[in-house]
Amino acid sequence: MEWSNWAGTETTRLARIATPRSEEEVAEEVVKARDRGLRVKAIGAGHSFTGVAVTDGLQLRMGALTGVTTLDATRGEATVRAGTPLHVLNAELAQLGLALPNLGDVDRQSIAGALGTGTHGTGLRLTGLTGGVRSLRIVLADGSVVDCSPEREPELFEAARLGLGALGVVTEVTIAVVPAFLLHAVERPEALASVLDGLDDDIEANDHFEFYWYPHTDRALTKRNNRVDAGTAARPLPRWRSYLDDELLSNRAYELLNRIATRVPRTTKPISAVSARALTGREYVDASHKVFITDRDVRFMEAEWAFPRAALADVLAELKTWVDTHDELISFPVECRVAAPDDVWLSTAYQRESSYIAVHRYHRQARGAYFDAFEAIAMEHGGRPHWGKMHSRDVDFFRAAYPRFGDFLAVRDRVDPARVFGNPYLERVLGA
Ligand SMILES: Cc1cc2nc3c(=O)[nH]c(=O)nc-3n(C[C@H](O)[C@H](O)[C@H](O)COP(=O)(O)OP(=O)(O)OC[C@H]3O[C@@H](n4cnc5c(N)ncnc54)[C@H](O)[C@@H]3O)c2cc1C
Repeated sequence: MEWSNWAGTETTRLARIATPRSEEEVAEEVVKARDRGLRVKAIGAGHSFTGVAVTDGLQLRMGALTGVTTLDATRGEATVRAGTPLHVLNAELAQLGLALPNLGDVDRQSIAGALGTGTHGTGLRLTGLTGGVRSLRIVLADGSVVDCSPEREPELFEAARLGLGALGVVTEVTIAVVPAFLLHAVERPEALASVLDGLDDDIEANDHFEFYWYPHTDRALTKRNNRVDAGTAARPLPRWRSYLDDELLSNRAYELLNRIATRVPRTTKPISAVSARALTGREYVDASHKVFITDRDVRFMEAEWAFPRAALADVLAELKTWVDTHDELISFPVECRVAAPDDVWLSTAYQRESSYIAVHRYHRQARGAYFDAFEAIAMEHGGRPHWGKMHSRDVDFFRAAYPRFGDFLAVRDRVDPARVFGNPYLERVLGA
């Protein structure tokens, strides 16, 4: 049974697949696999670009454990089964008049998968998704089920909030939710220089600011999303416009252009220039999750690093210089975002206001030297790589990068001494 992740960057042969229908079945499967000497990995949507979700043993598909189970409106908390895809969660919360405070770019991931690698969106006053976790239930390697929170099993809670699938199988999470809200979205192409000139103001003045720089050009696409006052009516994009921008230009035509750029590399620069100008400005007001989320049908590989917030412009300038002085042709834009600091032990934004820069390549192209060059620049600026996106760092790097790394390892040694939940990626980043 062969399995590949979404991007096709990781492939493995599985000894066994199971789709548990209850927490008890999760525990039974874990114990059975352990007794047979198989390693175990829960899987969400396979949207991680790294080998974090890979196993050669038992793959636990969490897709039968979905939905919101309880709601505590006064505390602003929803308890959600671990396999719930974000798009299902967003729809269920919307029906209840609720929403997640922030989201990344896509909604195909499962909630546990997204939390497990530190998925984030953009916004200086908001943390990544993991910052909103209030408690969780986890099946450990011995089959026991532990409820953990800042009050109960606090060390396990701190580690398992962003646990890389290394500590056990999460079956349920309780996460902070907010009343549903609308966002006013303003998207427009701009000169990169003017974006960088106004960067601090934009980061501070907007609830959610991000921009995409198009390599081989001086152009960027900016996105400013802000909450509207109560009583403001939604003004969604007309259907033809979202079809034209999101379906045709961002997906179908973009797939075609990337195929052309792969076959005839010298077309890459004109294609990047056309892409930078093809999307014209647009403005609309819609439900938060509809504004945050875009469809991403064109497959790609990605690396993303978090930096101290102030490093964004310098890192981008160095990356641009590298692109301008090398022959590699890059057809995908570079995405730049920000996030608030948090206190999650392995969060890329642990105790620092962060900026994020993500580089991409079309999945049919070779990785080339681009990602390595970016990684070298990132290391010079105190970067921390996204756990679910491609990087080559190992345990020694992470020991120095994360003040609570040793505490995480101690929890892992306690709850999974035999490394039932281990895999080659975890051996590299956490040690054997
Ligand atoms: C198109 C695309 C867009 C993306 N956009 C963003 C973005 O905007 N921001 C961002 O930060 N990241 C983004 N990512 C990265 C993505 O959010 C993460 O890689 C995320 O982990 C994927 O979730 P998943 O459900 O696919 O998890 P998987 O990749 O299936 O698994 C990830 C990890 O979680 C573990 N896991 C899954 N379920 C459980 C469970 N029940 N218990 C314990 N461990 C579990 C797995 O074992 C594995 O270790 C994007 C990825 C893609 C492909």
